[in-house]
Amino acid sequence: MDKVTCDECQNDFNIYLQEYQYPVTQVKGYVIETYFMCPHCNKKYIAFVTDKQARKMQKEIRSYHNQIFKKDYTGLTEEEYKKEIDKQHNVLNIMKQELKIKMDNLKEQIKALN
Ligand SMILES: [Zn+2]
Repeated sequence: MDKVTCDECQNDFNIYLQEYQYPVTQVKGYVIETYFMCPHCNKKYIAFVTDKQARKMQKEIRSYHNQIFKKDYTGLTEEEYKKEIDKQHNVLNIMKQELKIKMDNLKEQIKALN
């Protein structure tokens, strides 16, 4: 478990992640907030926020990642193999970047509600 220092009360505590699903009447997109609280002063920290689309993107990233390892590269020269791996890692990085932007936006949106 990660130990952090609370910004508010300066006490150390262990992070215990909890989830809260926002009702669709409040936020669209089946938004789940993952957060933790300081047990000393009850200050709430939002770790990350996902919605249905972000969770789908996470799934796609995982399966693309697995696919890179499972793929059959026999018959490729070392150079071709390296090129192929680079290409796939670039795609993966773009997917991760898109997800990060999405999740940063969600976090800002949710912070405004808290
Ligand atoms: Zn605190």
